[in-house]
Amino acid sequence: MKTLVLIDSDALTRALIAQCLAGQEWRVLEAEDGQAGLDLIAQHKPAAVLCDLRTPKRNGFQVCRWIREQPSLQPTRVILTTVSRFANDRETAFAAGADDYLVKPIAPPDLIRSMADCRDNGAATVAEPEAEVVVSGPTLVRFWGVRGSIPSPGPDTSIHGGNTSCVEIRVGNQIIIMDAGSGIRKLGQSLMKEVSTTGLNVLILVTHTHWDHIQGFPFFIPAYHPKVNVRILGYEGAVHGLRGALFEQMQTAFFPVGLNQMATHLTFEELTDMQFNLGVVKVRTMFANHPGICLGYRLSTPSGDIVYMPDHEAYERCEVERQKAERLASPDGLAYAKIQDEKVVEFLRGADLIIADSQYDAIEYPSRRGWGHTCADDTVQLAMRAGAKRLALFHHDPDHTDEKIAAMVERGQNEVAQSGGKLIVTAAREGDEITL
Ligand SMILES: [Zn+2]
Ligand SMILES: [Zn+2]
Repeated sequence: MKTLVLIDSDALTRALIAQCLAGQEWRVLEAEDGQAGLDLIAQHKPAAVLCDLRTPKRNGFQVCRWIREQPSLQPTRVILTTVSRFANDRETAFAAGADDYLVKPIAPPDLIRSMADCRDNGAATVAEPEAEVVVSGPTLVRFWGVRGSIPSPGPDTSIHGGNTSCVEIRVGNQIIIMDAGSGIRKLGQSLMKEVSTTGLNVLILVTHTHWDHIQGFPFFIPAYHPKVNVRILGYEGAVHGLRGALFEQMQTAFFPVGLNQMATHLTFEELTDMQFNLGVVKVRTMFANHPGICLGYRLSTPSGDIVYMPDHEAYERCEVERQKAERLASPDGLAYAKIQDEKVVEFLRGADLIIADSQYDAIEYPSRRGWGHTCADDTVQLAMRAGAKRLALFHHDPDHTDEKIAAMVERGQNEVAQSGGKLIVTAAREGDEITL
């Protein structure tokens, strides 16, 4: 005889379930709150636990998580029950480790099936993306979000825009989106006009999962459309995997719609190689100097190369300021920093367009050293040393007004003019388009 621990504060529900299982070779132990249920579970190590989500003392999610943390209870089947139909609760239940989720009133056949079923984690079925036909053509770059850290709308930022990082790159009919900051919301609205009967393929390359690079994703409408294939590529973050980070920000505590409620044509690919191809585009990547795991991408398209490196702190100035602040002199430390910058220059070498971190000016930088962002003077210097054609200052500080950004661009242009360089320095602005 197998043991079931039944946790429900409603005596009538407990009686109905016990009656339903009578004659099914189950011994039913009842508890009216979560803590009493856990005591029974610890004592009897049951084959199954049936627990309502809203139980006093310990709720159903907590009971489920506790069971999943106990090695001796790994075979125990956990079924959460509820009176509510919020899809997000269902998702949270499976994320907590539930094997099944039944909405009340529970039909006896469903209960019997669930008790007999083998383990099923309830993960959404992911459809295979449709094969993509790549048509080559000119490369178009469009800025939808150019700001760093947090959206900063308002009259002081209306020229450059207040949305966080999102850049659309089109190579023929291929759509590659760099990051999913708040700018992706409007891009999504624009893409919806292109969803024909044959659908649309969209690719999102994520540099890292800091919030300003993923916060717009829940508002990316194409991801909810059944005819849109969304491939999301990025590297595993410091704490969570790529999918985990996007899943977390859509949990009940933060957002009303869960990730699994988006369209099924949504795939996540955690990258491991530093070079790969996306259709006709060759991609090279480089680890950025930024907290956690963050990458810069170099896209080689048939009509030119684009480097997208939104979050990166140049090494040399960082080391110089560190030594100043700590009152030390380390020639080795400085030499090492210069070598690291040189690697970045190689990564940028000869690019047609560089979209790069320039969050601070030289006066601000010392007090923000170690925050993972570059002084615009250094961004200009690195791009010049790399012999790049054009630089778009990017990841503007949320406190920088349009006036301030214009002054930073002018300073960069003067720097180039004084050294006789040819680099074109601009600031990325929402709505701007560049064709290569
Ligand atoms: Zn950022
Ligand atoms: Zn970041």
